Amino acid sequence: MSKNNLKFEFKNIWNSADKDLKSKIMDMGEDYKVYLNNAKTEREAVNEIVSRAKEKGFVDINEFISQNRSVEFGDKIYAVNRNKAVVLYVIGKELIENGVRIVGGHIDSPRLDLKPNPLYEKEEMALFKTHYYGGVKKYQWVSRPLSLHGRIMKQNGEYIDIAIGENENDPVFFISDLLPHLSADQYKKTIGEGITGEGLNLLVGSIPSLDENEKEPFKAKILEILNTKYDITELDLITSELEIVPAGKARDLGFDRSLVLGYGQDDSACSYSSMKAILDVENPRYTAVGMYMDKEEIGSMGNTGSESSYFENTLAELINLQVGSYTELMIRRCLNNTKVLSADVTAAFDPNFPEVLDPLNASRINHGIGFCKYTGTRGKGGTNDANAEFFREVVDIFNENDVIWHVGELGKVDQGGGGTIAFILANRGADVIDCGVPVLSMHGTFEVSAKADIYMAYKAYKVFFEAE
Ligand SMILES: [Zn+2]
Repeated sequence: MSKNNLKFEFKNIWNSADKDLKSKIMDMGEDYKVYLNNAKTEREAVNEIVSRAKEKGFVDINEFISQNRSVEFGDKIYAVNRNKAVVLYVIGKELIENGVRIVGGHIDSPRLDLKPNPLYEKEEMALFKTHYYGGVKKYQWVSRPLSLHGRIMKQNGEYIDIAIGENENDPVFFISDLLPHLSADQYKKTIGEGITGEGLNLLVGSIPSLDENEKEPFKAKILEILNTKYDITELDLITSELEIVPAGKARDLGFDRSLVLGYGQDDSACSYSSMKAILDVENPRYTAVGMYMDKEEIGSMGNTGSESSYFENTLAELINLQVGSYTELMIRRCLNNTKVLSADVTAAFDPNFPEVLDPLNASRINHGIGFCKYTGTRGKGGTNDANAEFFREVVDIFNENDVIWHVGELGKVDQGGGGTIAFILANRGADVIDCGVPVLSMHGTFEVSAKADIYMAYKAYKVFFEAE
């Protein structure tokens, strides 16, 4: 080996992209924006993923279970958990007991939820109380158009799904900020204190009801409108699950259109690319599993988060349908033999904030999929630190298949940190490493990813699924 080849340098995809790769990157960028627009919340993401999966021949796991239909090599199966999480399976040649190959991401994103009792009036305006969900910077949510998405539950299981504020003819909603002229006191506060959680109240109307007996005419008018439009009452509003997200569609960013600006790219960037990958997988050696989970932004708890037993329960069902019997030892062996890419976004090096990242160990846009060997805070606290053996195995798969990759850490040592779902499956015995798409302005109301990285993540996840 010549001494010139001793160094390893991470590459910018565009320095070596030929015409064919360039057009694949740009084509996928178009479809990615469609996905972002259709999947702004976890429920919408489940609908989008399931409808794309059905088009590719995936069948509901409940059909297999109810018919006791045996699971065969090549079968494509989806399992929906309470409309808020979904798992896709392509059954491999090996028995499930011998381990599966998982790419796991999440489909919830930071946002504002309505409080259970949201509607009130003040100063002749009607407003909704909110409670933020996940790691938001509160000041980013004021003074911008907002939309309302979610499910309103009615009696006897009836429900209405809404998304108001995305269509250009829809009304939008809004949280006011203080005018600069009167901000002398606000300016003295820290950026974290300038806008408070209890101050994130959504303006939803300003015309009073003309019913003279109404003590709260502005609130009453909103209830009248909701009743006319959706046939609902305040009780139905209380039992609904409504989420506020930035209004507006994902857009190309930059003169060269190399970037995508859009809400929810943590973790739609990885969920989209892993969905595209598994939808293109046919007859893998090991069963391929795409996980699209809820509640990652608030700790993965609850029955739709990654900590729930739902995923293992579906694995147990599939083992039972594959071999006609089931013992606990089979699922324990399966998890122990399983290999996982935890598909979550990484913090891209930001020229506006170079001080928070170590340039030698920072993710960069257009440098392909970014590994995070570990995340955590204060000395790797709380992280899954991937084993060298598994890290190298994945790197070798990527190198053999011309996947452009690099490594990064989530910030300088002691600067902060974060976590992903990686530790959850690692705790169950699987080999896991984090690798995902670098994103600028992560957790912002609008985030930025590079189309080249979305394509490279797709390629990375696909070759991992297909590895012998
Ligand atoms: Zn994430």
